[in-house]
Order: sequence, then C-alpha cells, then structure tokens
Amino acid sequence: MSKIKIKKIVSVGLCMLLVGMISACGSTTSTKVTTSKQAQNKDNLTIVTSFYPMYIATLNVVRDVEGVEVVNMTPPITGCLHDYSVTAKDMKLLEDAQIFVINGAGMESFMDDVVSQMKHLQIIEAAKGIELLEEDHEHEEEEEEEEDEDHEETFNPHVWVSVTHAITQVQNIQNELSILDPTRSEAYEKNAQAYIQKLEELRANMHRELKDITQKDIVTFHEAFPYFAQEFDLNIVGIIDREPGSEPSAKELIETVEQIKTLGIKALFAEPQYPSKAAQTVAAETGAKVYILDPAATGPMEADAYIQIMNKNLEVLKEALK
Ligand SMILES: [Zn+2]
Repeated sequence: MSKIKIKKIVSVGLCMLLVGMISACGSTTSTKVTTSKQAQNKDNLTIVTSFYPMYIATLNVVRDVEGVEVVNMTPPITGCLHDYSVTAKDMKLLEDAQIFVINGAGMESFMDDVVSQMKHLQIIEAAKGIELLEEDHEHEEEEEEEEDEDHEETFNPHVWVSVTHAITQVQNIQNELSILDPTRSEAYEKNAQAYIQKLEELRANMHRELKDITQKDIVTFHEAFPYFAQEFDLNIVGIIDREPGSEPSAKELIETVEQIKTLGIKALFAEPQYPSKAAQTVAAETGAKVYILDPAATGPMEADAYIQIMNKNLEVLKEALK
C-alpha cells in the first residue's frame, strides 16, 4: 500500500500521527487529577472531557463556577482519539467523575463498552444534532486492497474545526449541563453566552477577511479540515496522507508531485503536530509553498486558546491564498 498519495478525500485519521508524537516530544504534560477532598464533597461536580477541544469548550462554560472542576482525560498533546486506548488511570478518573463530555460523531466510539458499564456517569455529546459530513469512501473503489477493519468511523468527527459547529458544541454542553446541574444553570448560561459571542465575532471577522480570496482550492495533509472548508467556502482538492513514521518512496513522491502540478496547487497546508518533511519535499519539487493550518486538536489549556488558534489560521490563509 502506498505511503503517500494525493486523494480527493481522506479517510485516514489525522490523529493517528499525533499519537506517535507523544513519545517523540518526550513531554509528560499531565492532566489535573481530582483531589480526594473535592470528590468527597457531595455538592462538588467533577466533569471529565475526552480530549482537547472538548476541554476548551467545557472550560469556557464552567469557568469561575464554584465547586465545578473540569479535567481533561488525555494530555493536551494527544489530539484526536482515533488511535487512543483507554488506560486504567482514565477508568479511575471516570469512576470519580459525574459527567463525561465527549465530541461524539464516532470520535470516542472505542469507549462505548467502558462507559456503558459506568451507570453513574452522565454523558454529554457535544456534536449532537450537527449535520455530519461522511468520510468519503469514493476513492476506495479505485484501490485494490482495502482493509475495512479500521473503518468504523462513517462520519468525519472533526466538527469543532468549523466555528459554527464549535458554537453548537458549546451550546449543547451548556444545555445538557444545566439540565444535569440545575442549581448552577444560570452561571453556565451566562458563561456560554459570553463565549459564544466571542466565537460569533471570530466567525464574522473570518468571513469578512476571507471574502475576497480568489484562490479557493487547497491541499491539506489530513482529514481534519472538511468542516472548516465548508464554512469558509474553500475547496479541498487534494489530501496528501502518509502513514505515521513512514517515508514515502521515490515513486510515490513523483506521483504526488505530478498530481499537484496538474491541479495547479500553489499552497500546501500541513498541521503543526505533523512532521512536514514530506510536505517540504513536495513543495520543493512543485514550487508550492507549505503553510501551517491548526485543527485546534492540541494546544494550551487556556479558555481563549481556540480563538487564538483560529485567528492564527486566518492570518495563514490570507497570506497563502492572497
Ligand atoms: Zn482527527
């Protein structure tokens, strides 16, 4: 099976690669663990989030609300959970929590069995009600060998990369949280509204700034951007994917280079978490330039991180597509 190829659509998980990055980075950024004192207090609430984007969204809803703690299950450098396995530590964390905020759309489906056994745990699915894009399997028909075992995800789960869907996720988290914890519902609502207003301003600004861009065709390196592209009217005409830890062969590189030349692509968008050696090689051969677009799947554990990341993406797009 070829290690590098350009496809109309992707089905290989972006974050398979991120998993490999954990050891590469050597970072041991750890999640905060619930203190036993807090777990003992009946009025206190511990909310666990499955991964980084859920943590940032939830943090904004519960910020400064007394007696509520939000803990991210996975270290922020983990990114997506496509290749993640639940650890004993995760199980303990969930046992001590009351609420588990997940993205849904298939991102955490590997946890279904674990979670169904924890009867005490309330699940908030942030992607609920969002119209999902299918993982496009069109290209698979063209491929000789298809391993369908890994194809559990029918829909693309990267909804938060669209600002509009990120807003829906915040609203969903707040709605569900207010139902589960009505005594604090006013504070949740106030927080959510303030954050949503910021996200709406961000979205309006991005639309304004990207309005006059004529070069709408982009090539990315994973399947994280379809919702983002949909929102800002960009066409993902190619996705170069590469298996983690492998180098493309000369033949594969040549194929990729030919396709990019044929498509007349001027800008390639790699991701910060992804080693861009292949991108650099392809760029050198085609004259296309490599830019970094961030799917906000990793980052600082700060409430405004998503907005900062998107503002950076906006600057990158303006520079790349002008
Ligand atoms: Zn992903």
